[in-house]
Amino acid sequence: MSWVDTHCHLQLDSRAPDDLLARATEVDWLVVPGVDAASSRSSVALAREHPDRLLATAGLHPHDASSWLGQRAAIEDLVPVVAAIGETGLDFYRELSPRDHQEASFRDHIAMALDVGKPIIVHCRDAFSDVHRIVEETAVGPQTILHCWTGGTRWTRRFLDLGVTFSFAGPIAFETGETIRLGAALVPPERAMVETDTPYLAPPPYRGQQNEPAWVALVGAALGSVWAMPAEQVAEVTSANAARVFRR
Ligand SMILES: [Zn+2]
Repeated sequence: MSWVDTHCHLQLDSRAPDDLLARATEVDWLVVPGVDAASSRSSVALAREHPDRLLATAGLHPHDASSWLGQRAAIEDLVPVVAAIGETGLDFYRELSPRDHQEASFRDHIAMALDVGKPIIVHCRDAFSDVHRIVEETAVGPQTILHCWTGGTRWTRRFLDLGVTFSFAGPIAFETGETIRLGAALVPPERAMVETDTPYLAPPPYRGQQNEPAWVALVGAALGSVWAMPAEQVAEVTSANAARVFRR
């Protein structure tokens, strides 16, 4: 089988990227999202070392949105050389940056993505209604990837209408993931991708351990049980979607 891990922070992992990549024998290629200027630069450097398997992105995580003005120029410089903008978005669960700073940074990321016509990777936690409002207002939906999607049926339907792509992660396989599975059941296969969010959110039976790209197959299998689709077919359709969305 051949998977694409569309969200894998290899540059934030304490382990050697080469080891994690060597173990991920069934992962064809991976996207390495930046979360600030430094990690976006590391993402670009890693992707240059592994042009056959890695795509870089540049962005500022909503947790650090308060530092946007200081990091903006460095991130903008990387836009021409990355495959996607982000990760960006809104996180009102931890709210580590004030909401208005998060929204300002998110909107600037959207403007960059629209400007260059590249996909945008969006983190959305306890902020469904605000992310929906902003994506709708800016019409960036068709370029939007909702990473680690955790919405239930209502928000999944509303975001489907905006043309986004949903990326599912470990929580779809958690015992507590029933809401996510109900949402995923509504997503047409051609609008879904899978990710690990390495080193976070390891799927069962590894929950609580450091995640790694090889385990994207477990996320794909969980999505397959929701859709009643063999894992092989899930790998095929989600990989084709990733190739289209990231233009690889
Ligand atoms: Zn992330």
